[in-house]
Amino acid sequence: MGFDIEKASRAELRDIQDQRLEESVTAVYENVDLYRKRLDEAGLSPSTIDTTALTAVPFTTSADIRDEYPDGLFTVPTGDIQRVHTSSGTTGKPKIFGYTRDDLDTWSKIIARSLETSGFESQYTVLNPCKYGLVSGGLGWHDGLEQLGATVVPSATADMDRQIELIRDLTVDGLICFPSFALDLAGIIERQGGDPTELSISTITVGGEPTSQELRAEIAEAFDAVVTEHYGLSELFGAGIFTECEECQDGAHVWEDHFYPEIIDPRTDERVDDGEEGELVLTSLSKEAMPLLRYRTGDIATMTTDECACGRTHARISVTERMRNGISIDDTTVYPTEIESTFLTEPETAPYYRIDLQRTGQHDAINITIERKQGLDVDQSELADRLHERFLAELSLSVDEITIATPGTIDRTLGTKANRVYDNRE
Ligand SMILES: [Zn+2]
Repeated sequence: MGFDIEKASRAELRDIQDQRLEESVTAVYENVDLYRKRLDEAGLSPSTIDTTALTAVPFTTSADIRDEYPDGLFTVPTGDIQRVHTSSGTTGKPKIFGYTRDDLDTWSKIIARSLETSGFESQYTVLNPCKYGLVSGGLGWHDGLEQLGATVVPSATADMDRQIELIRDLTVDGLICFPSFALDLAGIIERQGGDPTELSISTITVGGEPTSQELRAEIAEAFDAVVTEHYGLSELFGAGIFTECEECQDGAHVWEDHFYPEIIDPRTDERVDDGEEGELVLTSLSKEAMPLLRYRTGDIATMTTDECACGRTHARISVTERMRNGISIDDTTVYPTEIESTFLTEPETAPYYRIDLQRTGQHDAINITIERKQGLDVDQSELADRLHERFLAELSLSVDEITIATPGTIDRTLGTKANRVYDNRE
C-alpha cells in the first residue's frame, strides 16, 4: 500500500500544512484587499507565516464575510466561480460562499473520505433528505456520495410517507440527516405500527445541529444502526468536512491536510491546551475561491491530537454547542444539549422536549416540557421531582416547572432543524 494520508505521521501532516498554508496566505495577500491590509498592519508577509507563526495572524469573523458581501473575499475572477452557496439566515444580507471547479472536486473528495470513515460503502444506497438549494447541505452530500460511488436517493422534497416507502422499496443502507429527522422518522414508523430496527438502514450519520451523545445513542437504538456525528460549515466548503470514525465514535476527525484547527479561549483569544474547551477556529488549506485564515466558528469544542484507536492520526474535535445557543438565565448560561444529556439518562424519557423562557418581574422563569416514553408506566410527579433535583445538582439550574408530556404531543420538525427553545422574554 502506498502513502495513506489518513495515517500520516504528525510531522508529515505538519509539512503538508506548512506548504499549503503558504499557498493560501499568498493567494489572499495578492487578491483580497481585507487580508492584505490586515497582514500589512500586523507586519506579516506570506513567506513568514507557517503553522507556528499563525497565531500572529488576525482572526476572520462572520462579520468580515458579511462586510465583504458579495465577492470581496474571492481570490479569483467571478468567471472562475462555478457555484455559490449562502448562509441560512433569513434577515439581512446572507453570507456568500464561492467555489471554483477545483473547490467542488476537493470538497466532494473530503466528503467521500468522511463517509468511508463513518462506515458508508460504495455499494450502499443512501437516502439524502438534506435540502438541495442555497444552503450547502444537500448538494454537497450528493456530490460526496457520487464520489464515493454510492447510489444517491435525493429525497428532500418527498413527504415522510414517501421517504419511508423509498427506504423500504430501495432497501436503503445509509441515511444522512439532522438528528431530529432520524428521531421523527423512527417515531412515524412506530406510530404506523412498524419497527425501525427491521429496516435495512445500517449506517446513519447525523449533524447540522448540536446533539448530545445520549441522543445519538437513542437514534442508534431506534434503528439498530451505527450512528456517527459529522460537522461542517459553509465558510469552509460546507457539510461533511469532519466526521467521527465508525470504529471509535470518539470525536470527529478533522482532515488536517485541508484544515488547520485551533481551540482558543474566546475571552483572551489565546490558544488553550489539548483537551480544554474553547472556541473552534479554522484555517482553510486547500480552498481556492475563498480561503479563510483563522475563521472564528462560534462553536464550542475540545480537541485532541492523541492517535485514535482506529489508527488515524488526524486530530479529533468534539463540538459541544454553538455559542449563540447559550441560554442566559439569571446569572448563568446553560445549553440545550446539557439539558438533553441530563434528562435522557432517565429511562422513562423520550428525546423530544421544549424549553420555554418567560420574564416574571426581575426573575427569568425556565419551564421544560419532556415527553415520556411510549408504553412505559411512569410516575410523572416523581420523575419531575427527580429531574428538578438533577438539573440543580448537575447544571446548577433551578427549573421553575417541569412538565412530563404524553408521547407524540411535542411538535416535530420534519426535516428542518429542531426548534427547542422558545424565548418569550422581552
Ligand atoms: Zn478514529
